[in-house]
Amino acid sequence: MVSSDQLPKNYDFAEVEERWRGTWRDEDHFFDKNSKKPQFVIDTPPPYPTGNFHIGNALNWCYIDFFARYKRMKGFNVMFPQGWDCHGLPTEVKVEELNHITKNDLSREEFRRLCHELTGKNISLMRLTLRKMAFSIDWSNEYITMMPDYYSKTQLSFLRMQNAGYIYQSEHPVNYCIRCETAIAFAEVAYDERETQLNYFDFQGVEIATTRPELLAACVAVAVHPADERYHLLKDTKMTVPLFGHEVPVVQDEAVDPAFGSGAVMICTFGDKQDVHWWKQHNLALRKAIDRQGRMTGIAGKYKGMNTSECRTAILADMKSQKILKRQEKLSQRVGTCWRCKTPIEILSERQWFVKIKPEEIQKAAHEIKWYPEHMLRRMENWVEQMEWDWCISRQRIFATPIPVWFCTKCGEMVMPDEKDLPVDPTLVQPKHPCKKCGNNEFTGESDVLDTWMDSSISVLKVTGWDGSGTPPCFPAQIRPQGHDIIRTWAFYTILRSVALTGKKPWEEILVNGMVLGEDGFKMSKSRGNIIVPEEILVKYGADALRQWAAMGAATGSDIMFNWNDVVAASRFQTKMWNIAKFALIQLEKEGFDPDAPVTALADRWLLVRLSDTIQQVSAAMECYLFDIALKAVREFAWDVLADNYIELVKGRLYTGEASRRSALLVLHTAFDALCKMLAPFTPYFAEECYLHLHKGASVHRQPWVSFTYEDEAARYEGNLLVQLVAEVRKYKHDSGLALNAPLGKVTIYAPHTVDDEGDTGRTLNADVHWRTDAVKLERVITGIDFNRAVIGPAFRKQAQAFMTAVTALPPHQLADPPKTIILEGTEVEIPHHAFAPKFSCMEEGAKVDVITVGDVIVTIAKSA
Ligand SMILES: [Zn+2]
Ligand SMILES: [Zn+2]
Repeated sequence: MVSSDQLPKNYDFAEVEERWRGTWRDEDHFFDKNSKKPQFVIDTPPPYPTGNFHIGNALNWCYIDFFARYKRMKGFNVMFPQGWDCHGLPTEVKVEELNHITKNDLSREEFRRLCHELTGKNISLMRLTLRKMAFSIDWSNEYITMMPDYYSKTQLSFLRMQNAGYIYQSEHPVNYCIRCETAIAFAEVAYDERETQLNYFDFQGVEIATTRPELLAACVAVAVHPADERYHLLKDTKMTVPLFGHEVPVVQDEAVDPAFGSGAVMICTFGDKQDVHWWKQHNLALRKAIDRQGRMTGIAGKYKGMNTSECRTAILADMKSQKILKRQEKLSQRVGTCWRCKTPIEILSERQWFVKIKPEEIQKAAHEIKWYPEHMLRRMENWVEQMEWDWCISRQRIFATPIPVWFCTKCGEMVMPDEKDLPVDPTLVQPKHPCKKCGNNEFTGESDVLDTWMDSSISVLKVTGWDGSGTPPCFPAQIRPQGHDIIRTWAFYTILRSVALTGKKPWEEILVNGMVLGEDGFKMSKSRGNIIVPEEILVKYGADALRQWAAMGAATGSDIMFNWNDVVAASRFQTKMWNIAKFALIQLEKEGFDPDAPVTALADRWLLVRLSDTIQQVSAAMECYLFDIALKAVREFAWDVLADNYIELVKGRLYTGEASRRSALLVLHTAFDALCKMLAPFTPYFAEECYLHLHKGASVHRQPWVSFTYEDEAARYEGNLLVQLVAEVRKYKHDSGLALNAPLGKVTIYAPHTVDDEGDTGRTLNADVHWRTDAVKLERVITGIDFNRAVIGPAFRKQAQAFMTAVTALPPHQLADPPKTIILEGTEVEIPHHAFAPKFSCMEEGAKVDVITVGDVIVTIAKSA
């Protein structure tokens, strides 16, 4: 190792980060199953393997790594697993794009193989970013949801929940994306504000308003309010649907708003959730006018085969020609859309698989979990409270976990595989036993697959070692870190599944992070061009600077705006710290420091008090995941307290080699050691590099968290005073045009009681410093006059000089309290306002001094001649 005075002048993050990346070993972060330490298992979010680890992920993982490293230092057996949530539509779409195919051009297996391959490549790319960011991931606990060992667990969980009555299949209206050609869950419906047209038309003499005339073929009833007298005659009658001619009943329902339009509405299967509600309530017929591809079905008659917007145009044209379209109005409307592709969703009634939602169970478990920040629990409560439909878990896609079910071709009996035979793809293999009901040997495999959330909602079961038998060995996990955007999905589904499969809450705590916004304050998006990629920051400023930005950008849980200035400031902090490190290391190396040296000097005791305060503050913040508060306290201590105040105070003492030099060296060592440890979770590379030099090769990441405490109330008070005094006198030097190291003369400090600063103040100020406790005796004398020529000139013209001479001749008491008139060349003249002002000076023991007050302390400065 190089000696400290040969350390590089500037901190080269690129060199340091790459070197440590090559040195650290994965094994150091493995969870130890046999450890006696308390466990701290993290239910890390498995990202979708897009190939790009985005800045939102980076923020999330920074938080995880901060506490993973902290908990390790606190003596926990930490598991920081890394999962990959592979299945789903985006990969299917990407495969279609890359290979210029559609999923129907290949066999299901071939298509799945391409998805697998692409996902594998993307995972490799993202692993690299994770490593560059120095995330202390336990790679021995990596899981990939598309791999058999993972999705066999997804299938096992399906079978268990099916047996327990949580899972059922039924024909029921579900949200359906006709672009993705699959059912989606309510949690996957996004809402967009859109402008649409409200069309008023004549429905057999009754005016009806609709935004979706294309659903006329699916009209199954007309509804009116029971108290609406306009429609009493229609009660129990049937009406004929215009253009289509089928008859529908008139139903009465309290939910119809008589004040909206004509007070009569049509019910279609299905325009929206309200239609579903009415359809059930009144036991109405089902007319499917739109198919899974979004095309009009046979019941749409001549409109069959059109897509919905073609059909809308055609129907409106026909209404016009039949003169039943009365008027049209613009209307802005909230439209449910598919969260992945933004296509407006349809509500289609299909045979699907569902998971029963039991709100009380979920609420109970959610309340047993500690939420950070606390108010995020409310979001979960709201979501569960408004839950109306069960969770639709079947998807009509390919790249996903197969639903492990067959149906007997003869009697329709549902057949499940044996648990030991999992995983299975029922479209590729047949059951091992004949049908129990009819003995038949032919079966149809279920071709629907599972919602991706069915995979990811058992991540906690996977990492805690679930094998289907009872409570997993490491269950519950200690913490779930995740974004607030997936509380309704990932957090909700995980709680649901854990309760269903183990009867218990999945984690003790949940830490919710905010979203990263662009520099313009908007959500990052391609169209806004405000996307920042972590890799770009890594190249320009390194991982530690990016990590500091993540910690400092906002309070935990709040959305955080990306800002290059914050990254630059973080990198400047490292430069400053590197300079402190070099100074400290050189001093420590010069004359070996003594770990048993008594700490005597005031400044030294003061620094230990401030260090002790900082450690308490940082530790308390880390316990509550308040990373911004923790890192801010570390930075303030390093920059303001240690560098700007303490080192300035003791520099002289360290150079002169006086007796108390050993005291200062020990304090410098203690502070620097603690700083490395407190920075270790935030800037792992930088802290490691500094610690390496301080401890000749030891790793900071294997050290326990700093637990130093020091109490000395007198040192706190007097030290604060000392620092303030020095700052004020240095400011005085600066304002007087003196260099900071220029000799200052005699400085007398009148403090309430004696302070022994061991000469630090004098050396720092380069002055002859005297501390006194007696009262200061100052004399205020007039030592000059400021004449105001702008007044005197016009008033006295040629006599101006004579006026000034006369004023100068006045005795001091008249200068301080000027008379109204003065004798000028024998004549009494008036003294104009603001003609002059006396200049006062302070005299102390016959010498002219400048005076500064700091609280109740008075400082006099007699500048050297
Ligand atoms: Zn979609
Ligand atoms: Zn059968």
